Amino acid sequence: MDHFLYRDGELYAEDVAVAEIAAEVGTPFYCYSTATLTRHFRLFDEALGDMPHLVCYAMKAASNQAILRTLAGLGAGMDVVSGGEYARAKAAGVPGDKIVFSGVGKTREEMRLALEGGIRQFNVESEPEMEALSEVATSLGVTAPITVRVNPDVDAKTHAKIATGKSENKFGIPISRARAVYAHAAALPGIEVIGIDVHIGSQLTELQPFRDAYRKVAELTETLRADGHEITRLDLGGGLGIPYTRSNEAPPLPTDYGAMIREELGHLGCEIEIEPGRLVAGNAGILVCRVIYVKSGEGREFLILDGAMNDLIRPAMYDAHHDIVPVLEPEPGADQRPFDIVGPVCESGDTFAKARMMPPLSEGELVAFRSAGAYGAVMSSEYNTRPLVPEVLVHGHQFAVIRPRPTFDEMINRDTIPEWL
Ligand SMILES: *Cc1c(COP(=O)(O)O)cnc(C)c1O
Repeated sequence: MDHFLYRDGELYAEDVAVAEIAAEVGTPFYCYSTATLTRHFRLFDEALGDMPHLVCYAMKAASNQAILRTLAGLGAGMDVVSGGEYARAKAAGVPGDKIVFSGVGKTREEMRLALEGGIRQFNVESEPEMEALSEVATSLGVTAPITVRVNPDVDAKTHAKIATGKSENKFGIPISRARAVYAHAAALPGIEVIGIDVHIGSQLTELQPFRDAYRKVAELTETLRADGHEITRLDLGGGLGIPYTRSNEAPPLPTDYGAMIREELGHLGCEIEIEPGRLVAGNAGILVCRVIYVKSGEGREFLILDGAMNDLIRPAMYDAHHDIVPVLEPEPGADQRPFDIVGPVCESGDTFAKARMMPPLSEGELVAFRSAGAYGAVMSSEYNTRPLVPEVLVHGHQFAVIRPRPTFDEMINRDTIPEWL
């Protein structure tokens, strides 16, 4: 469910007409709904109910300061994957003891930053990383709380680029090696082992792969406890999928996900962490673009938009589908025709949809890409020297630009000229 609905014949974001924002901000732009972000965060929080837990929003999905502040205000922790994200989380007012640090390639500088600024735990992904972290922590006179990310070798049944829980993926340590790795960790002076971490992929549309992975984590918890490790925290990662089309089968709800977690892990008495990203932000954002031209090709028609692959790369990168809807509500029963919907970038990959059935649209009309809130703006670039796409946040009747569109001069002046030129 989201808060982008037609009202009086046009698309609204909560109580603001999308066309009104477009008139003020220009296109293309991302638009997020506070009510949807809030609703999705609370669904997860409530799904874990009375189990001791923290929902750590995976901020790589959408990391604007205003979004982070909105979620932090609801009590969210953050899952960060870089020093930059750590700094963003702190800048948004998230305390260090609510920040978990994930990722296969943390540098010593990033470790130092987080140890000095405060951290809930590092989710460590390899023995070399563990040794480096122990050294950095020791040099600072502290101990680093860690979980070890285990790779449970389950098939997440999702797009290959976002599956992370098979043995061939670069993530985590093989679960079969966990006892040896935990013994190693326990022997390191700068490390305190507190739990286990797992994250098997993104955009999962079934509960079973999660269940398979969590069952293995439950077994491992018992084994490691028998080995003398204190396992008090289980970080279960993110990955719950969202419906990208209104016709396809609905992915499991956070409520069912929470109930499954309780079934598989509730008896262990551990504190539970989850790291949802996409499900919190995905349907809380749209990308609004304007039709520049309607062009007839040989046997096909193109809708050429002012938004492009640099603004939303998911179709080019993951063959992702986004529903694209006119901002002016089509008449019921309006004729539909197939269009190839493309951007202006000089690559054929800059194609959002092929032969997509759309009602008649003309130059200057607005369209909205639905479910664009996650892995949208954060993956945008200035390719073709197109200004970085702006972001807008709606809250009831109010809206605010939360990242302005840079001017051409701002873009150009970021470059510096060597003295010999
Ligand atoms: C990307 C990622 C997430 C979030 O995944 P979603 O599919 O957006 O929920 C959570 N944890 C880790 C370690 C990740 O890399």
